[in-house]
Amino acid sequence: MTLRTLDSLGSLEGKRVIVRCDLNVPLRDGVITDDGRVRASLPTLNTLINAGARVIVCSHLGRPDGAPDPQYSLEPVAQRLSELLGAPVAFARDTVGESAKDAVASLEDGGVVVIENLRFNPGETSKDEAEREAFAGQLAELGDVLVSDGFGVVHRKQASVYELAKRLPSAAGLLIAAELDVLDRLTENPERPYAVVLGGSKVSDKLGVISHLLPRVDRILVGGGMLFTFLKAQGHPVASSLLEEDQLDTVRGYIAEAQERGVELVLPTDVVVAASFSADAAHEVAAADAIEETAFGASGIGLDIGPETAARFAEVIRGSKTVFWNGPMGVFEFPAFAAGTKAVAQALTEVDGLSVVGGGDSAAAVRQLGFADDRFGHISTGGGASLEFLEGKKLPGLEVLGWA
Ligand code: ADP
Ligand code: MG
Repeated sequence: MTLRTLDSLGSLEGKRVIVRCDLNVPLRDGVITDDGRVRASLPTLNTLINAGARVIVCSHLGRPDGAPDPQYSLEPVAQRLSELLGAPVAFARDTVGESAKDAVASLEDGGVVVIENLRFNPGETSKDEAEREAFAGQLAELGDVLVSDGFGVVHRKQASVYELAKRLPSAAGLLIAAELDVLDRLTENPERPYAVVLGGSKVSDKLGVISHLLPRVDRILVGGGMLFTFLKAQGHPVASSLLEEDQLDTVRGYIAEAQERGVELVLPTDVVVAASFSADAAHEVAAADAIEETAFGASGIGLDIGPETAARFAEVIRGSKTVFWNGPMGVFEFPAFAAGTKAVAQALTEVDGLSVVGGGDSAAAVRQLGFADDRFGHISTGGGASLEFLEGKKLPGLEVLGWA
């Protein structure tokens, strides 16, 4: 079965169309610091507006605890959406209450309303199916059809992603279709050499993808917080760097499997070690097997890959025809530890082939470091979702749209 697309819904003129977007943008003091996900939602929304639909946009933002929490309001997102669409966007102060019902009732053909954060309602993410069903039922009353376009949440069985899509006539939006197109190209006959660059904070998040990709790729490059678990697995002390002791055996297994399969596991040869986890911490470059031998001794913390490693990673990336990158190489939020991430991002822009950036923080990193989106083949809006797809998992939010 293939994904149901927008045309499967027929004419949308005058219809109330609920659009499940992923507008989970990073906010600082109520200001959006990266509007990439809002911009990624525009093609679908413009298509629906032009078709004369009455557009009801819903999304989650952050992790409120199933109750209203002003710091996670979607109001600033509704404002930004209005600027980007160049059209007024109404905002409802609740999700399925009076404000939402009134706003939907006042919608004209081609009009847009953003309803308040789905996760202000416990039913959205409840583990209890009946609670999710009940909330999906309330959402379903707002609209005639559902367009599911929140790629970042398709790996979650949540009310607006799964139960609602079963209740209403539903189809995938243009963002989901575009994301799947790229992910397919990464899994079916990727051009070689194929390199995967992994970083970020937690090894345990990324292990599944390593095991699934090992038989499919030529090289795996490991940076970010997870590199220390690899170095430790090889017997090197890592001082006070991020380490997941309980993953050491698994990681040793991957190192052995990579060797057997002839996959080159490219590990750092040097790292930037800091006195503490802070933006202005004193720091030194150390060889990967001498992390405890800096001035900071056993209290040193590795916060970035070193310059030699960055240069090697860049060379491998530039020489590849297909590259998938997930997870920053260091704590890029601190400028002193952003060089490794910047070198990798730069190299991705120079790939003569398909370069894909996946992951919320990775996407935010490339933009924060000043790279324009169009310099990459694709920037995925969904980190967890794209990883799970590449792991070969079935994603409930896609299955419910006919994807198999
Ligand atoms: P993504 O959202 O792109 O999937 P992750 O969420 O896995 O990425 O990881 C992003 C985080 O990893 C960033 O906030 C970054 O600061 C952190 N990180 C990268 N390198 C290190 C490191 N050496 N030590 C601690 N945290 C790190
Ligand atoms: Mg992240």
